[in-house]
Amino acid sequence: MLKINQIWKNILLETETKVSTLAFDLYVNSLQPVGIYRDRLILLSDTRALKNIVDHNYKDVLKKCTNAVFPSILDIEIITEDELPNVGKVEQEVDIPVSANYVNDTEDNANFVSQYTFENFVVGKSNEYAHAVARAVAENPGSKYNPVFIWGGVGLGKTHLMHAIGNSLLRNFPEKKIMYVTCDQFVNEFIESLHDTTNANAMKNFRAKYRKLDVLMMDDVQFLANKEGTQEEMFHTFNELYLADKQIILSSDRPPKEIKIEERLKTRFATGVIADIQPPNLETRIAILQKKCNAKGYTLNIKVLGLIAEKITNNIREMEGMLNRIISYSTLVGGDPNDLNIVNDALRDYADSSNDIITIDHIVNATCEYFRVKREDLIGKKKNKEIVVPRQICIYLICDILGQSVPLVSIGEYFGGRDHTTVMHARDKISEECKNNDVIAAQVKDIRDKIYNR
Ligand code: ADP
Ligand code: MG
Repeated sequence: MLKINQIWKNILLETETKVSTLAFDLYVNSLQPVGIYRDRLILLSDTRALKNIVDHNYKDVLKKCTNAVFPSILDIEIITEDELPNVGKVEQEVDIPVSANYVNDTEDNANFVSQYTFENFVVGKSNEYAHAVARAVAENPGSKYNPVFIWGGVGLGKTHLMHAIGNSLLRNFPEKKIMYVTCDQFVNEFIESLHDTTNANAMKNFRAKYRKLDVLMMDDVQFLANKEGTQEEMFHTFNELYLADKQIILSSDRPPKEIKIEERLKTRFATGVIADIQPPNLETRIAILQKKCNAKGYTLNIKVLGLIAEKITNNIREMEGMLNRIISYSTLVGGDPNDLNIVNDALRDYADSSNDIITIDHIVNATCEYFRVKREDLIGKKKNKEIVVPRQICIYLICDILGQSVPLVSIGEYFGGRDHTTVMHARDKISEECKNNDVIAAQVKDIRDKIYNR
């Protein structure tokens, strides 16, 4: 039997390699699996806008990927929340064949991406400490560094490092029980166990599964924010493992003290080693691109790699996306990926295809238009109320719409070099206001509509 979340996870793994990274992060990965109805997979979209985008642009590829992994699922349907009551009775756990030529990921542990190894990880100034700590725990889990807390912006290698630790541990300590989970998975599993009326032992099993581990890795723990129940569960899991000298490795997009979780958990997270990863410098970015090229069996010259590395500075995943674009474009037109004309064409194509993707600029422009303020004022230093509130609303919308794809630090930089804590403050303030202040809530809604209907 496979749970719907496992089914979806496998489909995501397949789809990730078939659509652009941005499209994957912004759209596909935002859908939630509802269940299976006959031969159809039902997915839930938060908004109608997202549903429309996926229906028009990504449904076919999603259907293909689904079918490639699970041949018995023939169709997918994307619905919004108001359509949920019409769906009928869906299955959330099904006995379903997995395609024979598909390496599936249905095991609970050992689900490490094989390419994410230490050998494939380029070390530079920006990540050398995190890398050294990761190496040390991979060699000697549960001893010196515990817990390990790795933090840094999106696409800078946190997940890669965790999988590298996992791959290495599996090789060197095959007897140890090692598990990698994303924070979301943990939260979902916890909630499912809580509400599972068919199995009286669901919660007990859930607890046992996590507390018997030798190594627990949890990715993106910032998503524990506002989930009090799961935080409490995590607190007890943490204590039990920690007191038994079991290794705990956590990652987040910000340091422990900035995560919105209960104090005692924050303190626990910060008791071991805290290692940050910063955006890599130009040399390191080029070295990473070279490594990725080697892995794919391509040799691109330094000029082309430099071009990419100069264009994208603080997200390696995006940089890889651009590299993939050049390679696939050159294959498509039968040209040489080292030919600068080809490269420029490919990148023009890249810019075009990101036209339907919402960017910070779109959100800033929509906010300026709505409040009739000048762009330089909105992102500038003025402190009068007429400009501060629109600025905060704008920042909130950027965080809300673009989510993790844009690090807070970059938003701060965009807004005249403000600190990322200022960004967080604005975001949280408007998020609160939306609940209590009808005027602000309406403004946020209007601008959001404007952005999606642009
Ligand atoms: P994060 O979890 O921090 O958002 P990921 O670990 O998913 O980032 O990394 C995004 C992409 O960048 C992955 O394909 C990863 O292999 C690559 N990457 C990041 N840092 C490095 C590095 N130092 N060397 C090689 N590849 C890297
Ligand atoms: Mg990650």
